Amino acid sequence: AKAWILRHQFVGFPKASDFEMKLEELPDPKDGEMILEALYLSVDPYMRYVCEQVIVSKNPAFSVGSYVVANCGWRSFVLSDGTELTPIVSDWPKDIPLSFALGAIGMPGLTALYGLEEICQLKAGETLLVNAAAGAVGSVVGQIGKIKGCRVVGCAGSDAKVAYLKELGFDQAFNYKTVGSLEEALREASAEGYDCYFENVGGEFSSAVMPQMKPFGRIAVCGSISLYNDTVPQTGPYIHAHMIFKQLKMEGFLCHRWSYKNEESLRRLLAWVTEGKLRCQEHITQGFENMPAAFMGMLQGDNIGKAVVQV
Ligand code: NDP
Repeated sequence: AKAWILRHQFVGFPKASDFEMKLEELPDPKDGEMILEALYLSVDPYMRYVCEQVIVSKNPAFSVGSYVVANCGWRSFVLSDGTELTPIVSDWPKDIPLSFALGAIGMPGLTALYGLEEICQLKAGETLLVNAAAGAVGSVVGQIGKIKGCRVVGCAGSDAKVAYLKELGFDQAFNYKTVGSLEEALREASAEGYDCYFENVGGEFSSAVMPQMKPFGRIAVCGSISLYNDTVPQTGPYIHAHMIFKQLKMEGFLCHRWSYKNEESLRRLLAWVTEGKLRCQEHITQGFENMPAAFMGMLQGDNIGKAVVQV
C-alpha cells in the first residue's frame, strides 16, 4: 500500500518537501479485521477522511464491496478493525457520486448544518454572512441559509467563485481580494448589518465584520483558515466593545459535538441533494501521488466546492 507521511511539521505554508510517499506492507487480516481500498481522499485544511471500499473482510459487520468513510490518513489501502468507520448507507442513490460522502453529505455538510442550527439558531428572514463561501463548508452554509428563507451574503477569493455563489442563489457575493475596502463591501452587501455570521476565515476579516453585526447577532466560529499557517500569531484589533454593546453571542464549535444526530442529519442533507435544493460542486484531482499538491492548492484557494483526490 502507498502512504503519504509527514516528514516535518509545517513551518509556514506547507511545501512539497514536507511530504514523503512510502510503501507499507499490509498484514493479512485477522478475525474482526478487513482491508479497505481508498477510492476518494478528502482534501481538507485539517486532512481527515477517506471514502473506502471493503475489499477483504473478516468482520461480520462489514461485507466485501460495501463502502465506508474512514479516518485513516493518506493511504491507498489500510487494515481496519472496523472501529471509527461510518458506513455509507446501503440505499445511497446510484446517481449521487460516492465522493459526496466527503462533502455536502458528509462532515463538511454536517459542520454547516450544526453551525447554523445549533450555534446561530438561524431564523427565516434573517441576514446570514459566510466567508470561504465557495468552499466545501461555505457553499453548503449559504444554500442551507436559502433553504431556511434567509438573505445570504457570501465572499470568496475569485470572480469565478463569486459567479458560482450567484448561481447557487446567494443574494449578494463579492471577491474579498479585489474589493478596495472590506468594511465598505460588507456594508454595501447588507446596509442593515448581519444577524448571523458563519466564520471560516478569522483574522482581519473577522475584525471587519464585528462592527456590522446587528444587536443580538450570533457568530458560529467554525474555522480561521487565514491564520493556520502563521508563524507569528496575529493580534487585535479587539472586539469586546462590539460584543458587549451589541450583546453578541460568539461560540466556537467542532462538528462532532452533535455526532449523536449524524445519521438523521446526513439523511436530511441527502434529501436536499436528491431534491435539487443543495447543489454540490467538486474540485477533483486525479491520482494518489497528487495528494500534497491538492492539499496545498486547497489552502491557497484553487478549489470551487469540495476538494477531493480520486485515487
Ligand atoms: P474549503 O473548501 O473552504 O477550502 C479552503 C478555502 O479557504 C480556500 O478555497 C480559500 O478560498 C479559503 N482561504 C484560504 N486562505 C484564506 C485566507 N487567507 N482568507 C480567506 N479565505 C481563505 O475548506 P473547508 O470547507 O473544508 O473548510 C472551511 C473552514 O471550515 C476551514 O477554516 C476549516 O478549518 C473549517 N472547518 C471546521 C470544522 C469544525 O468542526 N469546526 C469542520 C470542517 C471545516 P478563497 O478563494 O475564497 O480564499
